[in-house]
Amino acid sequence: MADESLAARAPSGTHDVLWPESTRWEAVLAAFAHQVESAGYGLAHTPIFEDVKVFRRGIGEESAVVGKEMYEFEDRGGRTLALRPEGTAPMVRAFIQHRPPLPWKAWYATPAFRYERPQRGRYRQHHQLGVEALGPADPDLDAEVVALADGFFRSLGLVRFTLSLNSMGDNVCRPGYLEILRAYLVARRADLCPEHQDRLEANPLRALDCKREACIAATADAPALVDHLCDPCRAHFGRVCEDLDVLGVPYAFDHRLVRGFDYYTRTTFEFSSQALESAQNGIGGGGRYDGLVEMLGGPPTPGIGFGIGIERLLLACDAEGVFPVDPGLPDAFVVDLVGGDAARDITASLRRAGLRSDRAFDQRSMKSQLKSADRSGARVAVIVGPDEMEAGTVSLRPLRGTGEQRTVLRSDLVDAVRDEAGH
Ligand SMILES: [Zn+2]
Ligand SMILES: [Zn+2]
Repeated sequence: MADESLAARAPSGTHDVLWPESTRWEAVLAAFAHQVESAGYGLAHTPIFEDVKVFRRGIGEESAVVGKEMYEFEDRGGRTLALRPEGTAPMVRAFIQHRPPLPWKAWYATPAFRYERPQRGRYRQHHQLGVEALGPADPDLDAEVVALADGFFRSLGLVRFTLSLNSMGDNVCRPGYLEILRAYLVARRADLCPEHQDRLEANPLRALDCKREACIAATADAPALVDHLCDPCRAHFGRVCEDLDVLGVPYAFDHRLVRGFDYYTRTTFEFSSQALESAQNGIGGGGRYDGLVEMLGGPPTPGIGFGIGIERLLLACDAEGVFPVDPGLPDAFVVDLVGGDAARDITASLRRAGLRSDRAFDQRSMKSQLKSADRSGARVAVIVGPDEMEAGTVSLRPLRGTGEQRTVLRSDLVDAVRDEAGH
């Protein structure tokens, strides 16, 4: 008897990805790799868990992600580790450790873990694709990174999405702006949502990107950071916008698009699918983080990147009816009525020739094997009975379309299957 307490179910907030849906995941990864590698980004793998300090310092202690949502645990050696809640901090940690030559342009595909309330499009283990580019402070790099994400979405066939863009300023111009914003919001404290009435002094930016009606209304005419940028920040932002115009990447300026941590600087951006419900329609985003490498103990190094959630992205594809993926059906299915040798040898020679082939096992009846052949989706059944074995031939039965069964020599089989499969 199985232990009754063991439910054979994936943990709450997680999901399995089985074939044929998994073929879309392979295709998403391949499309992303193609897009970013064409621009010089190389794949990096880093561990799924890190010293918890990487995230406490890299994301910030007071963030919901670190404070409430992180999977934090002590290992058997007493180290406090955390499952990565996002992709950037581990990449920056790896950069500091290995000091690859600059500029360092890297991409990743990784699961990310957050203890959130499970809901559609939001998981406790979700999966992210992203890039990080370290070294240049050049605004052309910002535009490159944004254009890569935009190009990736378009390569999947998505069109109903928008790009919001803002500048966070830097340590020169942001403190002055924060004072102005704080004064503005203090005078309207009663109009804000309860959470942001309390946290107003610590971080007035939070009220700007709050999704609650109260905060949205109270900040509608709030001073915008973009109007208070210092000259270098304004020039930087101007160049990013000019680049995107020239590259043909449409965007909309959004003064509410802010990130609450000190290391975020200048460009910040977010992609939203118009095909998804507005509360859950973010399909990717990122920004410049010129202070982060230093914050994690490395030399001052500018950086920028983005992350894309695969689950949400595929929901957007479904909603737009794009990015169907061919599940890769077999070219041939071998039906063996002579004890298994023919199935063993023929599948091997077809596979060596680069053809997809499958077979039945356990010496089942012809009827049962043909049923399996049909269910496999193969284009053609390769049937070997005693007569064919004797004559050194096989019977080729098309399973789709209108072709007739025919007999071919064993030695001509690879060419015949290739013919049937249209390769
Ligand atoms: Zn609020
Ligand atoms: Zn500035």
